[in-house]
Amino acid sequence: MPAIWWARRDLRLGDNPALSAALEADQLVLPLFIIDPQLMNRYATAERRVAFLLRCLANMDAELCARGSRLLVRRGEPFQVLQELVRETGAEHIYAEHDVWPYGRQRDARIAQDLPLDLVDGVTLLPSGSVLKDDGQPYTVYTPYSRRWHETLETRGGLASLPSRCFLSPERLPPIPHDLDSESLEQVFADFDGFIPSEVEANRRLEAWFEGNPAPVDNYDIERNRLDLDRTSTLSPYLRWGMVSVRRCFAKVAERCAQFAGVYPTGLDTWVAELVWREFFQDVLYHFPRVITEPFKQEYGAIEWLHSPMELDAWKHGMTGYPVVDACMRQLLHTGWMHNRGRMIVASFLTKDLLIDWHEGEAWFMTQLLDADPAANNGGWQWTAGTGTDAAPYFRIFNPILQGKKFDPEGVFVRTWVPELENVSTRYIHEPWRMSGAEQERVGCHIGKDYPVPIVDHKIARQRTLDAYAASREHVQQQREVES
Ligand code: FAD
Repeated sequence: MPAIWWARRDLRLGDNPALSAALEADQLVLPLFIIDPQLMNRYATAERRVAFLLRCLANMDAELCARGSRLLVRRGEPFQVLQELVRETGAEHIYAEHDVWPYGRQRDARIAQDLPLDLVDGVTLLPSGSVLKDDGQPYTVYTPYSRRWHETLETRGGLASLPSRCFLSPERLPPIPHDLDSESLEQVFADFDGFIPSEVEANRRLEAWFEGNPAPVDNYDIERNRLDLDRTSTLSPYLRWGMVSVRRCFAKVAERCAQFAGVYPTGLDTWVAELVWREFFQDVLYHFPRVITEPFKQEYGAIEWLHSPMELDAWKHGMTGYPVVDACMRQLLHTGWMHNRGRMIVASFLTKDLLIDWHEGEAWFMTQLLDADPAANNGGWQWTAGTGTDAAPYFRIFNPILQGKKFDPEGVFVRTWVPELENVSTRYIHEPWRMSGAEQERVGCHIGKDYPVPIVDHKIARQRTLDAYAASREHVQQQREVES
């Protein structure tokens, strides 16, 4: 009897627990991807991300064909599609990876009522929900979570115990009956700025991250915050779509550590800490699905956000007049990716300088980012807005000028993405409005004509935000008193 491997966000053949389970269970494995119209409609404006997904599916189909199989692509409501395929083929098992997103959990629970759906772990190294306090409660702060995460991993044998054999993809796969229909994948032409959507590219990037002496990962702790240097792995789109397994990333760390006698480079621990942030935010969404619609910290549920479509639009299109913010937002528009420091700067600017609801920024990121992930994105936005689990305190408001000076000291990053400022000297690159009229004339950039005047005064905005957050806390407190 056949087994269905229902691929969702595990678009790879190597180290794929759902595919392995299907291969172990049955002789005939049917690789399936369902184009769910509800999700497609939700991300109708996320054209580049959808194109990235479709291109990845085409590449995965080619890999499957090279192994004697092929990808079945069907469109429709997942329960109905699966029911139909089970009826057609007599499949006795459906294997897929757990999904912590509330929509995914509800969908899977509904399917499991009537169909033989088996969910396996894989999105994270430690299954969501498995890292708990002694009293069985979930963590809401990263540092103790991370400590317990490492303890839990140790009880399972630690990083060093991760198997390496399972990373190989199967050499041959059983052929798929010809009479099974598959929708042809739409041909899409989009520029992903070097992010080639395939498992091969994901593995290439991972290998490059660990290659050389020192390997880039070894020094990750030193310059990872610099916007003008490529010092991060840029693996996020690949981890998001599962073109590489997170287990493989951790195993590479273990392998690298083992190459040193005892003391290994500090970058390795710092990189692991980022991967654990990823696990943490998946866990937060697993335990607190309400964060998708409301602030984790309920005292910030009454902030009077400003409704300002023009300012929101200026932010989205990199026209705020603050060079580092504009450079980051234009990088996002052009490439579908943004550096982590950049994400923090622009998120702080939207929520705390413009006092615009973080949901607006979260939604924009979901349409623009190739790596857009409901858990990490929500976690990042709520962290920066100061409303989340392990949030930056509400009074921490990034100063976009100082952030620019610190993380793009020569203005190289700004000049790359904001060509209007190309000739502006390093002295003024992060505050070009301070140039005299003569200087503006000299560099050919007139503020207010060639490049915008800042849309907000950071100092004034800072106080406005502190007041708005304080008012929300007070309001919610009063409400609680009335209710009790
Ligand atoms: P590296 O620095 O090389 O880190 C390795 C991997 O660890 C990343 O690929 C990613 O999977 C994970 N990671 C790193 N930092 C974080 C973090 N803070 N939270 C969760 N995972 C992390 N990341 C996403 O994958 N998808 C998102 O939608 C997303 N939205 C964000 C929104 C905001 C407002 C903020 C502040 C951060 C967001 N992040 C998101 C986290 C982070 O910015 C990106 O994961 C990182 O920039 C990706 O670059 P990299 O692959 O070079 O990461």
